[in-house]
Amino acid sequence: MTKTIPVKKNDYIEVIFEDLTHDGAGVAKVDGYPLFIPNGLPGEKAKVKVIKANKGYGFGRLVELYEKSPYRVEIPKEEAHKYGGCQLEHISYEGQLKYKENQVRQVLTRIGKLEDVKVHPILGMDNPWHYRNKAQVPVGEKDGKLIAGFFKPRSHEIVDTNESLIQLPDINEAVQTVKDICDELKIPAYDEEAHKGVLRHIMARYGNQTGELMVVIITRTADIPNMSQLVEEIVARLPKVVSIVHNVNSKRTNVILGEKTTVLWGNEVIYDYIGDVKFAISALSFYQVNPVQTKVLYDKALEYAELNGEESVIDAYCGIGTISLFLAQKAKKVFGVEVVPEAIEDAKKNAELNGITNAEFEAGEAEIIIPKWYKAGNKADVLVVDPPRKGCDEALLKTIIEMKPKKVVYVSCNPATLARDLRILEDGGYKILEVQPVDMFPHTTHVETVALLKRK
Ligand code: SAH
Repeated sequence: MTKTIPVKKNDYIEVIFEDLTHDGAGVAKVDGYPLFIPNGLPGEKAKVKVIKANKGYGFGRLVELYEKSPYRVEIPKEEAHKYGGCQLEHISYEGQLKYKENQVRQVLTRIGKLEDVKVHPILGMDNPWHYRNKAQVPVGEKDGKLIAGFFKPRSHEIVDTNESLIQLPDINEAVQTVKDICDELKIPAYDEEAHKGVLRHIMARYGNQTGELMVVIITRTADIPNMSQLVEEIVARLPKVVSIVHNVNSKRTNVILGEKTTVLWGNEVIYDYIGDVKFAISALSFYQVNPVQTKVLYDKALEYAELNGEESVIDAYCGIGTISLFLAQKAKKVFGVEVVPEAIEDAKKNAELNGITNAEFEAGEAEIIIPKWYKAGNKADVLVVDPPRKGCDEALLKTIIEMKPKKVVYVSCNPATLARDLRILEDGGYKILEVQPVDMFPHTTHVETVALLKRK
């Protein structure tokens, strides 16, 4: 039976928004038919124009707001660029937290069919501004001057941004200063279309706990004009800089970093701490961008793991070993597995840096390595997973169910795949005890969640 579509392209209709999608668009329903409309907020009444009417759902554009949500914040047009990359910029922080918490509750019920799970109130930031410890900013040219900022959505047009409201002040200052210096030294920007010019991106990383700053200059060419002056000026104008790195990316690509990296001045790495654990961060290493909330998240994971020093723990999808090293302080032994070999090298170095000797790391796919460990007799008491957005591989979930660790701590960056995997683990003999959402990326649609599971 085919249902008729109640709207058609170019219709103007009046709607009341009911919900938000996972990427922050408003959802309105016309006789049950969902329309997705950017910038609409739940509870708001509006006139919208239908842009596209597919079979099961359509898209629209907001034309006029009749009734506003109490969570809406107005951003002056000239301020909007400061929010580059923030999909929830039109929602107050209180509203954002409510939305993220609801999203977790809803998917657990809808996708996971987990009705009676305890979902705690989301842990947000006291000050949700200026939190990012890293920026990688594309550089272009306009009216003979260098500009640097972010790409307009769905385009390659750069918006010149002097201040980002989500980056740490030291990061904003570094990007701005390096841009000014390059402009003064007449270092030409990279021209994407013609694949000519030099300066592609400016990257800055900052160790919040150590005050160490790294600047990475990413160019198309192996040579940088006026390079020694560039280095001299950066050192003179950015007192916190301890590392200046040059990365060459000669390819026609959207990928930011290229194949060759050299240190121009100072150290190869900067350091930072999460809790008491020290991390070395190179230009290429993965490191959490919000260390304040990372600590909140990992503390929760550690609390859920309830370690007393006797346990063997597996940390699947361990990255540079951040969670593993956190757990190693309280466990007998930790085994970390991660697919990127460079990350595993970093994890081993970080263990050494902290004098941690009870953590072992192996590079490979969690769904291959963990079954191998299990067959070899390595059974974990506690298993921690922190998979990418697509969630855990089925083979890994199957191994967990066979291996029967007493506890599973599931750290997730995607509530939908979390809900799907929790359902599989619940059917496989686990009880989902508690779920804690954490806001790691204020003003963006991302939600992090930690769940605690115990063997029934
Ligand atoms: N726990 C880490 C990183 C989590 S991000 C931290 O908190 O910093 C997810 C990680 O899973 C990434 O490092 C990614 O490279 C890795 N990954 C993706 N697929 C994988 C797989 N099949 N097996 C193991 N690791 C994988």
